Amino acid sequence: KKILIIGSGGREHAIGWKFSEDFKKKGESLELFFVPGNAGTAQIGTNVSLNSLEEMRDFAKEESIDLTFVGPEDVLSRGIVDLFQEAGLEIFGPDQKAAQLEASKAFAKDFMAKYGVKTAAYKNFQGPMLAIEYLKTQDFPIVVKASGLAAGKGVIICQDFEEAKKAVLDIMEDKTFGDAGAEVVIEEYLNGFEASILSFFNGKEIVPFVSAKDHKKIGEGETGLNTGGMGVLAPNPLFKKEHFEAFQKEILYPTLNGLIADNLLFSGVIFFGLMITEKGVYLLEYNLRMGDPETQTTLPLLENDLYEVVTKSNRGERFELNFSNQQACCVVMVSGGYPLNYEKGFEIRGLEKVDCPYFIAGAKLENDKILTSGGRVLNVVGIGETMEKAREIAYENIKKINFDYEYYRKDIGLIS
Ligand code: ATP
Repeated sequence: KKILIIGSGGREHAIGWKFSEDFKKKGESLELFFVPGNAGTAQIGTNVSLNSLEEMRDFAKEESIDLTFVGPEDVLSRGIVDLFQEAGLEIFGPDQKAAQLEASKAFAKDFMAKYGVKTAAYKNFQGPMLAIEYLKTQDFPIVVKASGLAAGKGVIICQDFEEAKKAVLDIMEDKTFGDAGAEVVIEEYLNGFEASILSFFNGKEIVPFVSAKDHKKIGEGETGLNTGGMGVLAPNPLFKKEHFEAFQKEILYPTLNGLIADNLLFSGVIFFGLMITEKGVYLLEYNLRMGDPETQTTLPLLENDLYEVVTKSNRGERFELNFSNQQACCVVMVSGGYPLNYEKGFEIRGLEKVDCPYFIAGAKLENDKILTSGGRVLNVVGIGETMEKAREIAYENIKKINFDYEYYRKDIGLIS
């Protein structure tokens, strides 16, 4: 088979790794292509540099690609799935219409409200005046969000009216997030702990993954600036059976009803970003693609053959997802200075000694050397019978890897 994976992060390396492991197990041959890929994906497939969606479609046709798997959200919201399907190509992901559930927070919130999906109270605004009037009537803290895609940066938690007013003006008048800020969502602040649940949707059923716990802050003890993710645990040690049941009843089923009623049918991923408070399990957001680094943490626990599941999903057939009873602890190594300024181009040494799964994110291959090329450099995933064991394996392996100015959090997997 030939599989094309779109994206360049640790997520795409992990997706490719999972396909390769499964095909090795089956003893079948597999050719992987990545657009554009990174130094890690180059070890398991061919990296191809293509610019437009049309070039990707033409490449898939010429190479007779059997399946295309899309990593990042921007390509989905630009309509890659529609384009591939029109050309008769098999692709896993939402069409442009359904991708709005991630690409427009205002659209997603209206969808949740319409179908009774449990979520924070909110109101959408297309201009700053009414938004500011509304803020005068609200309690604080409150959350101001740019509606469009802002790479995880468009959410501002405001402690008082002045901060919230400034957030609205920054987003809507100064256009800090460009067009993503043409509309804002103002939302009730929820206080609790977060959990992520990935799932596959086949157009009829939503089949959930094991839960995951992200660590978004740069500093230990969840302090400092927000990042793209510094570590993930799966299953999420705080997310208990009763939380899952509440999630199913108040979020998953109403979402499924809504997707069917609004004809938002596709075969692809739905990622639920949850907040668990004293009042129950709330949905913060949908992502219509795999999370990063949740993918790197949960795919090594998935026992199914990924190709089989995805192709079944594409045909609208039933499938189950089985996860091993083990625990996974993913620690992200980053370039010192990230998420602000950092230097890159440093050689990564010692990867050959690593004996657990690792996934490259920001590194490139140059003259047979692997050099850092981004903020988040690589993910090391320890897997064990207990979280303590998984954590130990991750950190033992991290010690074998070296690059200048490396940084990682030392508290991933320490649950208080
Ligand atoms: P990402 O791409 O990182 O998932 P995003 O920009 O799509 O983020 P959200 O997931 O909606 O936006 O919000 C980002 C983070 O902001 C959440 O993970 C959560 O920590 C915080 N947040 C969002 N909404 C709320 C809320 N109503 N109450 C409290 N915190 C919130």
